[in-house]
Amino acid sequence: MLFDAREAERQAALDRYAIVDTAPEQAFDDIARLAATLCNTPAAAISLIDHDRLWFKARLGIDQPQLVRSRSLCGHAIDAPDETLVVHDLALHPGYAQRRRLGGQRPRFYAGVPLLSPEGHALGVVSVGDVEPRTLTPAQLEGLRLLTRQTQHLLELRRYLLEQGRLLSARDAEARDAEHARDALQRRHDDLEYTATHDALTGLLNRAGMTRLRAQAKARGALDTTRYVLALLDIDHFKQINDRQGHLFGDRALCAVADAITRAIRGTDIAVRYGGEEFLIVLPDTRLDGGAEIAERIRRQVEALEIGAMITVSVGIADGGPGGETPEAVFERADQALYRAKAMGRNRVVADDTPR
Ligand code: GH3
Ligand code: MG
Ligand code: MG
Repeated sequence: MLFDAREAERQAALDRYAIVDTAPEQAFDDIARLAATLCNTPAAAISLIDHDRLWFKARLGIDQPQLVRSRSLCGHAIDAPDETLVVHDLALHPGYAQRRRLGGQRPRFYAGVPLLSPEGHALGVVSVGDVEPRTLTPAQLEGLRLLTRQTQHLLELRRYLLEQGRLLSARDAEARDAEHARDALQRRHDDLEYTATHDALTGLLNRAGMTRLRAQAKARGALDTTRYVLALLDIDHFKQINDRQGHLFGDRALCAVADAITRAIRGTDIAVRYGGEEFLIVLPDTRLDGGAEIAERIRRQVEALEIGAMITVSVGIADGGPGGETPEAVFERADQALYRAKAMGRNRVVADDTPR
């Protein structure tokens, strides 16, 4: 059980390098070649202990790309990770019988230095081999250990780069998530803003929307620097219409009037559902006669609506301009004109032309 846990940790340590089954790399091949040159052997390898196999990241003079773990010499790396195993003549040690073949021949000589993770797990072995029994000088042994340390540095560099890559992509993902969250929040804010400033029935701006618009410098500028017309429109006898045709029909009529207004005005004009069946239309850059024409067009269009019952509107208009009255005063005069339109028999446009 203890062994299993230790082995699982060891395998996990190896997996963190994500190196097993990768393509050959010059840096590892160079180390194997250096080891063979240094030790004057025909074979050298950098092998990794992966589950039940020994897989070669670099191999020189060895026939197989991998070996069955139980038939390899890697066990010593796990049993004695701090020790270099040197077997002068494998033929004298039947216990070391292995599958490794060097150019079709059985190996006789083997020397292997365990390759360790920084936590001390045996990841594999840097080894040299020969088909003749032989020995290594102390300098060769020391050189083989140094090459093993270089291999460990290469592995650490690889793990570091992998981790950096992972961190970077995690940071990218976080940034993307934050951006999505910000977009969603902005959309929600825009939705709320729209709902708060628009009339749900007709889709026109509501009073709150108009107040918000009034506060905007651009809209203020339009009323402060050019002549404009305010039109107040009220549906005639709407209470009766509701009473006779029903409230639902009343709602439909409200929408039809709102559509007629929207169709008649320009993109720069502003229509507001100001009260129950009252609408305010702001016509920037417009003079009184031009405003009267637009109001008359709306009146006629409403009159011509075929929605099951006749509906008409009365409209009062007044104009304002830079340096004149406040828009509130102009609104007041438009309201009085609307009152007169009602008093004069409804279904008409009255322009307030009181001299100022
Ligand atoms: P006048 O010609 O003098 O304007 O008469 P009126 O009946 O239109 O005037 P009044 O202001 O007395 O009535 C307005 C009616 O509009 C009363 C109210 O029930 C109705 N109303 C207000 N909002 C809505 C709405 O959203 N839907 C419907 N169906 N009716 C509404
Ligand atoms: Mg009214
Ligand atoms: Mg009315």
